[in-house]
Order: sequence, then structure tokens, then C-alpha cells
Amino acid sequence: SHDVHIIGGGLAGSEAAWQLAKAGLRVRLSEMRGGGDMTPAHETDRLAEMVCSNSFRSDDAENNAVGLLHQEMRALGSLIMSAADQHRVPAGSALAVDREAFATEVCARISAHPNIEVVRERVDSLPVSGLTIVATGPLTAPGLADAIAKVTGSDALAFFDAVAPIVHRDSIDMDVCWMAARWDKGGKDYINCPMDKVQYDAFVAALNEGEKTEFKEWEKDTPYFEGCMPIEVMASRGVETLRYGPMKGVGLDDPRTGRWPYAVVQLRQDNALGTLWNMVGFQTKLKHGEQVRIFRTIPGLENAEFARLGGIHRNSFIRSPELLDGELRLKAMPYVRFAGQITGCEGYVESAAIGLLAARFAAAEAQGRALSAPPSETALGALLGHITGGADAETYQPMNVNFGLMPPIEGRTKKADRKRMYTDRARAALKDWLGSPDRHAGADEGGIA
Ligand code: FAD
Repeated sequence: SHDVHIIGGGLAGSEAAWQLAKAGLRVRLSEMRGGGDMTPAHETDRLAEMVCSNSFRSDDAENNAVGLLHQEMRALGSLIMSAADQHRVPAGSALAVDREAFATEVCARISAHPNIEVVRERVDSLPVSGLTIVATGPLTAPGLADAIAKVTGSDALAFFDAVAPIVHRDSIDMDVCWMAARWDKGGKDYINCPMDKVQYDAFVAALNEGEKTEFKEWEKDTPYFEGCMPIEVMASRGVETLRYGPMKGVGLDDPRTGRWPYAVVQLRQDNALGTLWNMVGFQTKLKHGEQVRIFRTIPGLENAEFARLGGIHRNSFIRSPELLDGELRLKAMPYVRFAGQITGCEGYVESAAIGLLAARFAAAEAQGRALSAPPSETALGALLGHITGGADAETYQPMNVNFGLMPPIEGRTKKADRKRMYTDRARAALKDWLGSPDRHAGADEGGIA
């Protein structure tokens, strides 16, 4: 018998199992690999297999949001971070690991824990009772995916197809761009980047020539919606296609000329804080380097910093901002929590971080303790806040952790100092949270500088 059932032994589920076991709870961890099933991307039956790169990205906790997240997870006794640190390979300031040794380590530590029972089984339905964490990832097996879709509404388990890049608001040149909505309808909600004919023609040519990512064999059957046509596909249909599509300039008076621009790129606010803006209609499968190069030719975006680049791959996730409460509980079935990439966070580290939080909330609930959410100034709190309410549910797309998810730093600051200000503030906030009485304090915690 167990206290909490975790479904899925990937990055999130493994971390969640560890956190619960450490809190003294008994865990059943169901993982379908090793029990006769496989996903289209995994290759082994190891827990916490990294399906693609072997990198947990930057380990710089002073200047980088994912590095900060590493540091916060270490302070909370993360198994994933501990195994990664132990099997680190040289990669400059990034934390890259020997993926086999890493996953073997996670398996060994989990298997050896007396509170965890790993069961190699596929789960095809949501349990009818009992504390549960669903951590089945972007490649959730179809039976369970259907069961989740039934509870969350059929369109809620979105079939991920294409995403557009997201830009940090403070990197957009507002001397070139202006705020307006087409035909002045409904306020001045969009940031508009104007283009003349020469700029537009060069831009379309660059899209056509830019290097694209190829689909994987198993991705070829994945449908994508007509409404999500990649921009380079539109560009290839004719030089005017984009100008009659997402780049049309009609109804947008440029305050500097009093006229409509020949073409325009629009950005729409992407988070409640207004720090992140997405490029409307700019879903793309151009290679990441090409996106940065080509999109920085857009007037006003010459110095754009991207919180996320566009991409196309298969991915399922739920519309967390409307479906989950602040503790990652499914509102319609509150004994079920979601964790990992299925919640719409993106990346190994983020997935494990949400697994860590889901487990801590579940442990507190099982033990009748109060547990406040980590503050929004921390990387953990910022990511959690985005997933459970900060993001716009209608346009919700997977997101890496980044400083744009945190409340902006008030007052005038030098750009060079800003990252340090975010991370210093985060460390102070985490320290307060770790010391607060409504938080479960474990012996391995609080060790943050
Ligand atoms: P996973 O790690 O996928 O774990 C989910 C687990 O649930 C799997 O072990 C699966 O076998 C199991 N499972 C699924 N359905 C069931 C079921 N019904 N019953 C029982 N078990 C089930 N992120 C990066 O940071 N870097 C990358 O380079 C990267 N590349 C990626 C490439 C691809 C093709 C994909 C799909 C994703 C990639 N990601 C990458 C994102 C990556 O998947 C996540 O970062 C991370 O693995 C998600 O963690 P998770 O625990 O949510 O899901």
C-alpha cells in the first residue's frame, strides 16, 4: 500500500518520488517503460532518461534563470540535481551530464529507497481516489492522454504543433515600434514593428533561404493546424502571402509617418506581468540560430532577447493556467496533481522542478501541514506562478524558466546589473521562504548562500 501514486518515472516523476519518500511517505511509482511499452523518443527503460541533449543548460546562478533554478533545487535536496552534479561532464558554464550514468544513478537511488516501490506498468486511466501525481510527460501514452482529455475538456490536452518566439519587452526598441491595435480597436494592445518594401522583400527572401529543422520520422504523421502554418511555409507560397496574412499593415497608422506601414510584425503580451511578448503568427521551424539572425533584421528588434525561440514538435500538455490550482491540483479532481512537461513547463530542469513542488505540496497535504508556495521572486515560484495562473490560458505554450516570469525590478537599473539584481533578490526570497513557519523544514535545507 502507498500514500501517493506517481504515474510516469521521467525527470518530474523521479524527483517527485524522491521528495515524497524523503518526507516519509510511501510512494508507488508507475513507469511503463520496462513493462513492455516505450515512447517514440525514449530508448531505454531507465528512470529519468534524457531524450535529447545531455544538458541541463547554464549552471550560472548569478546571471541565468535556469542556473538559479539549479541552485534553488539543490537547496531543496533535489535528486535530479544531485545525480547531475555527480555525473557532470565538462561543458563550460553549462551543466551537462553523462546521460547513462545519470539515469543509472537516479534508478539506483530510487530503487534503494525503502519508501518507493517502482512498478513497471502502463496506467490507462486516472485513479478514482488517493493522492496522485501525473508526470507522464510530453509523450503521455494515448490511453491515459484520452482519459485526461475527458476530464479536462477535449481541447484541453493540446496537441502541440508550432510555437512562435517570445521576446523580452525590455529588449524591444520603442523608438522604432509603437503600441496600437488594428483600426484602433480595443485599446493599444500590440507592439508594432514597421517595415518598408525593401525591408519586407529582404525579410521574405531570408525566410526562404533560412535553414530549417527537419521532422523526425515519427513526427511525420503528426498533424498541424492550418492556423499554425509556419511563417517560412507561408513565405514560400509567394512574396505577398505574409503581407496578406500575419504581416499586413492595414489599419495601423504609424505615428511617425501618419500612414500604414508596407508590412508589420506584431507582438502580443504573453504574461500577466507584461515582461514577455510573443511574435504574432511567427511559429516556425527555422533553426534557432537562423531565427535570431533573421528576426533581428526586423525594425525595432535589432537587439531582441528571446525568452523562447519558435519550434515545431509533437508535445501534449494541459491548459494548466485554467485547469490547475496554485498547488498544481486538478480543480476538477483535486486529489490529482500534475507535474513535469505535461503542465506546460519546458525542459528537463523545469520538469524536475515542478515534480519537486508537486511532491512537496502532496506531502504537506498528506501530513496535514500548511505549505505556502515559493515566492514569485524565486525561480521556482516564478515558474509555478506562470503555470498556475500567470500565463494566458488561451495562448498557453510550453515555456522555459526566465527572468521575464518574475516581477520586474523596480526603478532605473543598468542593463548589465539587472540579472544580478534578479538573482540576488531571488536568493533573499528563497531564504525567507525556507525560514517561514508554514514551510516544511528538512535537515538538508536552507543551505543557500
Ligand atoms: P518524461 O521525462 O518524458 O517522463 C515521462 C515518463 O512517463 C516517461 O518515462 C514515460 O515512459 C512515462 N509514461 C508516459 N505515459 C505513461 C503511462 N500511461 N503510464 C506509465 N508511464 C507513462 N528538454 C530539454 O531540456 N532538452 C532537450 O534537449 C529536450 N529534447 C526533447 C526532445 C523530444 C523529442 C521531446 C519530446 C522532449 C524534449 N525535451 C527536452 C523536453 C523533455 O521531454 C522534458 O524536458 C522532460 O523529459 C520532461 O520531463 P517529464 O518528467 O515531464 O517527462
